[in-house]
Amino acid sequence: MLSTTTYTSLVTDLNRIAQLEHTLGLLGWDEQVNLPSGSAESSASQQSALADIIHREATRPQIGEWLNQLESLSGELTHEQQIVVREARRDYDQGVKIPAEFIARRATLHSNAYHAWVEARAESNFAKYAPFLSANLEMAKEQAGYLGKSDSEAYDYFIDLHDPGLDAAFVEKQFAELKAELVPLVQQITSAPIKGDSHLLKGFPVDKQEQFLRETVAAIGFDFTKGRIDRAVHPFCGGHTGDTRLTTRFDENNPLDSWSSAMHETGHGLYQQGLPANHPGTALGKHVGMAVHESQSRLWENQVGRSRAYWQYWEPRYRTLFPEQLKAITSDQLYLAINTVEISPIRVDADEVTYNLHILLRFEIEKLLFQGKLAVKDLPSAWNQLSKEILGYTPTSDKQGCLQDVHWAGGSFGYFPSYCLGNMMAAQLWYTVRKAIPDLDSQIAHNDFQPLLKWLRTNIHVHGRREDTRAITRRVTGEELGPQSLIRYLKERYLPLYIKS
Ligand code: ZN
Repeated sequence: MLSTTTYTSLVTDLNRIAQLEHTLGLLGWDEQVNLPSGSAESSASQQSALADIIHREATRPQIGEWLNQLESLSGELTHEQQIVVREARRDYDQGVKIPAEFIARRATLHSNAYHAWVEARAESNFAKYAPFLSANLEMAKEQAGYLGKSDSEAYDYFIDLHDPGLDAAFVEKQFAELKAELVPLVQQITSAPIKGDSHLLKGFPVDKQEQFLRETVAAIGFDFTKGRIDRAVHPFCGGHTGDTRLTTRFDENNPLDSWSSAMHETGHGLYQQGLPANHPGTALGKHVGMAVHESQSRLWENQVGRSRAYWQYWEPRYRTLFPEQLKAITSDQLYLAINTVEISPIRVDADEVTYNLHILLRFEIEKLLFQGKLAVKDLPSAWNQLSKEILGYTPTSDKQGCLQDVHWAGGSFGYFPSYCLGNMMAAQLWYTVRKAIPDLDSQIAHNDFQPLLKWLRTNIHVHGRREDTRAITRRVTGEELGPQSLIRYLKERYLPLYIKS
């Protein structure tokens, strides 16, 4: 049949383009991990040449013709094939409707904005960055316009770009519900006389930290025959299903940072390794979006990694590797250090409770900027005011406030909500899997993560992008994506630690 031949041609081409994208991904990893100090320009040239080829290949008119044919014959397609065509259309439109001239202009602006941001942040001088942020916002609206979105729909467009199926109204509703319960909970915990102290842990040799980290990462199921873990300035998960590249960083006086970063990135890596490897470039082999990705990283980092059961098994090993450093630290102090909750000005340093408040703040600001209710020049004062209201903290400088994140300098709008939505979904998955595997705690305490990983594989990973963010949450948990499980989880984990009855 015509549709079968056309479908095979489309999928073969999408697979081929995916291989080029994977190659580009490896070049990006190489730049972060291995690059000799004088070779930045050479690497940038390679990456830009390859990105150019990929864009040309992904926007060939032939692909558009195949999509048109398949859409007109959709009755002949299976349900799965229809999903592949639908998602390929979404990607293709992103590629062809945005003019090449715009993409080049945007790349230049983002690069200039990034350098202005680096300088502005170092000097804590917002005025230096403000014109670039204004230009980035205008450009974001222009981009949405090419996809047929009005200025008032631009923010929805960017949220949907990161998390298919979501919009600002949906996020706003979930965040309002979360805020109402989380703000008093944080006040209750941070005003308690009991304090965690993650700075107790000092002088941990890096080679031993790395040994611990490799053992823990392998234990939860990361496949080192199809992946690596290296060092980089910023922890990340790169590569693809067949070759997943993780990075972490080490600090002798902050060993929990390298371990928790590694658990987090491994969570991303396990999702990536669990996606169907035989469908590169199509919806069947892709992840759903950033919120679902974050639900995986945060579940392993927080729900699993910060649990009593986990440390019941790993604390003796930690003490064997660091006998002197942990000699004067009791088990309770160690567990409290791992679960320290405190208001910190910087989002990336925040614990899993207060982290969500940082996201609520950014969402409010993004919404106001896109609605035109906040002028860029007034951003610092709006930020400080909202920070006081939401976090109970007024930044002492813009460096500690509205200049701390790189996202907007790179034009990444609508990305921040994914982090908090990922936390919500992780908690929903956690309560669902605990029903499915009643002795989960005991398995974790015995270092047996296979049943949990298998459950995530079966329910989430193998499905690729067949469903959008809300649909996959509904299918797996039986509930709408929302904050109630996160609130319950944070109360159950942290109130007994800080508010002893
Ligand atoms: Zn992450």
